[in-house]
Amino acid sequence: MNMLNAKKRSIIAILSACTLAPIMPAYTPMVAANIVSAAEMEQVQGIDYLVLVNKTHKLPDDYEANVPLITAKNSMGREFQIERETYAHFVQLRDALLKQGIQIELDSVYRSVARQQEIVKEFTEKYGTDYVRQYVAVPGYSEHHTGLAVDICLMVDGKVIDDNDEMIAQKEIFAKIHPLLADYGFILRYLPGKENITGYSYEPWHFRYVGKDAAKEISRKGLTLEEYMTETTQQRSVSPEDARGFVVLSEIVPDIITEVRYYTTYNFVGDRIVGYEEPCVLMTREAADALKEVSDDVMSQGYRLKIYDAYRPQMAVDHFVRWAEDLGDKRMKEYFYPEVDKTRLFADGYIDAKSGHSRGSTVDLTLFDMKTGKEADMGGTFDHFGIESHPDWCGNPETMQYTGKYKGNKPPKNGEINETQFKNRMILRQAMLRHGFKPLSTEWWHFTMKNEPYPDIYFTFPPHLK
Ligand SMILES: [Zn+2]
Repeated sequence: MNMLNAKKRSIIAILSACTLAPIMPAYTPMVAANIVSAAEMEQVQGIDYLVLVNKTHKLPDDYEANVPLITAKNSMGREFQIERETYAHFVQLRDALLKQGIQIELDSVYRSVARQQEIVKEFTEKYGTDYVRQYVAVPGYSEHHTGLAVDICLMVDGKVIDDNDEMIAQKEIFAKIHPLLADYGFILRYLPGKENITGYSYEPWHFRYVGKDAAKEISRKGLTLEEYMTETTQQRSVSPEDARGFVVLSEIVPDIITEVRYYTTYNFVGDRIVGYEEPCVLMTREAADALKEVSDDVMSQGYRLKIYDAYRPQMAVDHFVRWAEDLGDKRMKEYFYPEVDKTRLFADGYIDAKSGHSRGSTVDLTLFDMKTGKEADMGGTFDHFGIESHPDWCGNPETMQYTGKYKGNKPPKNGEINETQFKNRMILRQAMLRHGFKPLSTEWWHFTMKNEPYPDIYFTFPPHLK
């Protein structure tokens, strides 16, 4: 609805959807399941869900041709075009709200640049240039061109509420809707008090799909999309020596247990690792916040997180490389890589010149069982080099089904883990996945934040308690 001013909406009933549509007596749910699974299973290529379109940022020229639009209907029978994933998540949001007795409906979604040009033409003829300049978005500069913006209307006691002033008055209903948005990947695009940044006054009905991870971060920080994008760009230009984006993990997550193996000699090298000058665990602020959520989650299940490593400076990774090249040094072989030939460490991916840990949003961890006062039995230890450490060892991590086999074959002698051990690995994995981390196919203990803030920076500063 940012195309037109609220007060003038009645003049242009031609565009006002809900007021014209016949009201259905009862809510008719659409078949959403198929759309949702299709959208989630299929990787959408080339769509930038963080695309910024506002009065000064034009829609990228190649955007419209690539956006996968589908046709959707609201319960009043009106058809809309909308980006596929946006719709899948809108349906989930709508259904979740319906369970709370709140009915939202699509009111305005995708509008092509061409359609906006027609509107400008029509309105210029009808109301004149000044009116159009004041109330109609310039073609190419409306967020509705993205297919990711959703204006909703409300159904209250069988009556459609779509007038801007009336909607703004529905404070109680919107106070229930807004906290749910991020869980479905949406943000409130035009926040109150941020008019000078967004260029639009508060619109409680205008939601924008950006994906769950970004939506959660944006809403947690109370940002506009403009501010979030500026922050992200600034982060991209951070120097590798700059520790300012990092925090001491136990300050953000006081419930963790830490065992900084690389500060000690009990690790696969057998020496303290270069750069580990203090036994402290650092992470990016964003990753630490996400790990706090994981910690609260597992605490409610009777566990604590036990952290072995998180931020790892580049100089430590360089130490691993020097050790791996020294084929004669096998001091710790029997503890950490009994079955792996040291000549294979690079080829098989155990050691690399770069590690995701240096980007500051990767963590190695396990569960500590509060009932037994011991680490949960994972059927193997952190930094054990071998296929026994793969999350799909003896089971399917997608279905969480224990099979006792590896990739369809029997595991080698003495190699299998039991069902409890497999399930313990899955408890950790599921908790990490629920809060925005992604797993590694070769190490059950290693996870990286999906939406990591510094995806291209390999930091060099040694960890210090600040
Ligand atoms: Zn790791």
